[in-house]
Amino acid sequence: MKPAAFAYLRPDSIRGALEALARHGPDARVLAGGQSLMPMMALRVAQPAVLVDIGRIQQLRGIHATPSSVQIGALMRHAELLGSAVVAERLPLLTLALPHVAHAAIRNRGTLGGSLALADPAAEMPACALALDAVMHIAGQAGRRSVAASDFFQGLYTTAVQDGEILASVEFPAAIPGDKPFFDEVSRRRGDYAIAGLAAVRKAKHEVRLALLGCGDRPQRAPKTESLVAEALNRGQQPVRSDIRDALRADIDPPSDLQADADTRLHLAAVLVERASKSWLKGDTP
Ligand SMILES: Cc1cc2nc3c(=O)[nH]c(=O)nc-3n(C[C@H](O)[C@H](O)[C@H](O)COP(=O)(O)OP(=O)(O)OC[C@H]3O[C@@H](n4cnc5c(N)ncnc54)[C@H](O)[C@@H]3O)c2cc1C
Repeated sequence: MKPAAFAYLRPDSIRGALEALARHGPDARVLAGGQSLMPMMALRVAQPAVLVDIGRIQQLRGIHATPSSVQIGALMRHAELLGSAVVAERLPLLTLALPHVAHAAIRNRGTLGGSLALADPAAEMPACALALDAVMHIAGQAGRRSVAASDFFQGLYTTAVQDGEILASVEFPAAIPGDKPFFDEVSRRRGDYAIAGLAAVRKAKHEVRLALLGCGDRPQRAPKTESLVAEALNRGQQPVRSDIRDALRADIDPPSDLQADADTRLHLAAVLVERASKSWLKGDTP
């Protein structure tokens, strides 16, 4: 099938893009890397009358590091982030997770902003943003606003970005010495979206952050499981899988679908948390 007919605009500034979006209202859609939107249009799941291609807007590009944070432009491609020494050093969780995002050809075009704005619940970057407490900077005609990752993902493919707005950049708190990132996922084939996945960090001060993907309608933190794991690790012990599973049952309510039922997802999530705990415990042993 081919996409339905659409008009194509390619502004070269954020202001131009916002004007185009305002002019065409809900008929218009932002186009970034096109790796999700174009297939959806080809299948006619999405039929925007106007595409506003933001791909040439330089203000949406770049990686800017400060002593405490790294700000990444929404248009930065997955492959560029994977090849960035700044990201590897300051945001090592992203460097662990990015090889799991699709395949090389898709990573060459797909963007960080597109992945976050799409908010597929099984995608890697939204879970990393949640685990790291990232802040999203959103541009609109009324000005800019900032939304914490915990408020940004609002449901299935739904975020705080409203019609007429553009996700401009993402600010990640930088890792500090002693932080231990962990990423792993289970998918049918390498490059497929995850059936279940875990983006996690054990902070230097022994706090544990767990953000699960593929286990709900959006990426989810698991506060009871985080406490369980942190307390066990701080005692120098590996948390028991059945305890992890019980804690996860209180934290998440995974869906059943053609890939896996809810019970399987809960099991996979518990296995991933157990793997993370083992890797952290091993790192503690002199
Ligand atoms: C075969 C295949 C496998 C894939 N596997 C994975 C995977 O395992 N994990 C994964 O995470 N992704 C996967 N993807 C998706 C890929 O990562 C996309 O790059 C990403 O989801 C969307 O980024 P994009 O830049 O291509 O966005 P686009 O496709 O251009 O846009 C996606 C959506 O976001 C909106 N949008 C984009 N940028 C902005 C912005 N700055 N502000 C506001 N709205 C915006 C668009 O309007 C659209 O609704 C896969 C894709 C394919 C085709």
